[in-house]
Amino acid sequence: MDIAALHDAILRQDRRALAQSITLIESRRASDRAQAMALLGRLHRSTKPTGAPPRERKALRIGISGAPGVGKSTFIEAFGLWLTKRSQRVAVLPVDPSSVGSGGAILGDKTRMTRLSREASAYIRPSPSGGTTGGVAQRTHEVVALCEAAGFDIILIETVGVGQSETTAAQLSDIFVLLLSPEGGDELQGIKRGILEMADLVIINKADGALQSAALRTCADYAAALRVRGGQAWHPAGYPLAMTMSAQETQGIGAVWKAIHNLAEWRSAEGMIQKRRMRQAHYWFVDSIRQSMLEQLESSRAQNHIQEFSHKVARGQMAPSVAAQQVLRALGFLPP
Ligand code: GDP
Repeated sequence: MDIAALHDAILRQDRRALAQSITLIESRRASDRAQAMALLGRLHRSTKPTGAPPRERKALRIGISGAPGVGKSTFIEAFGLWLTKRSQRVAVLPVDPSSVGSGGAILGDKTRMTRLSREASAYIRPSPSGGTTGGVAQRTHEVVALCEAAGFDIILIETVGVGQSETTAAQLSDIFVLLLSPEGGDELQGIKRGILEMADLVIINKADGALQSAALRTCADYAAALRVRGGQAWHPAGYPLAMTMSAQETQGIGAVWKAIHNLAEWRSAEGMIQKRRMRQAHYWFVDSIRQSMLEQLESSRAQNHIQEFSHKVARGQMAPSVAAQQVLRALGFLPP
């Protein structure tokens, strides 16, 4: 593949080049990986010239998380259409770590967002195919960089609010939105404290019809819970905010955008988005090393060494930690 040509085509906002590059990034083949790295390196250099101070954000990255069924797809479609009507170019990236292994795919395919997918200024990336062991979020971080280079204004990163994925969403986004449904209004829906602590905006969806009053109650509960929450940078307008919306009836979408936009403007002005991205870059750097080392452990060379020592460990001839050191030494992770 001609990496220089791909690079130029991405900067020209060529969608086919973008799709091709995403495929390259998702590939597990070592040769593809090397090309993907060449492409990312090139894009990084051309969008952030060395020596120059890091530029202000180009795309706004919005993380959207919520349990299955709260209305993420419905919201993203409505919100995406709302944005494209206002001349924003929108990319939608699903991250679904739960589809790896036994968790089962929760996001499903994105054919649900049919109207948004027909928009010329929207790009919906299909869920990455399963079967890979880890690194899904890492790849998404790389895809975010591609979309940014391809000139998207808004990148919506969708994650299912279970397990580890909310931490991932926060590490991928400038603004993190938690979506909830009105049911079970008086307790906090089993949402872990952790995820609430990361949210900039808690949106109670389905505030329509018979669910309207439950939605308002739930919203009041969360507003109270967010008020007692401390630790995040204080904002004069009272962020983190709790608000209601109906994605289905496209009620409250404008208010959601206003809340996101105002917070983004304020954070930009304060240099907070830049700082957050610097912290994130460090996180993905370390994560990438961790992933690569884990992949090395899966290699047949590593597996052979493990096999060799596992018999000795099983027969009690060698202490497990001593055997582990031997393997690490053989693999070059420890000095001989
Ligand atoms: P996801 O699993 O979080 O992506 O949720 P979906 O967007 O697929 O929505 C799950 C269900 O909730 C669907 O049956 C939607 O029609 C419904 N739904 C989504 N948004 C709303 C809303 O604002 N009001 C109501 N009443 N139902 C909604």
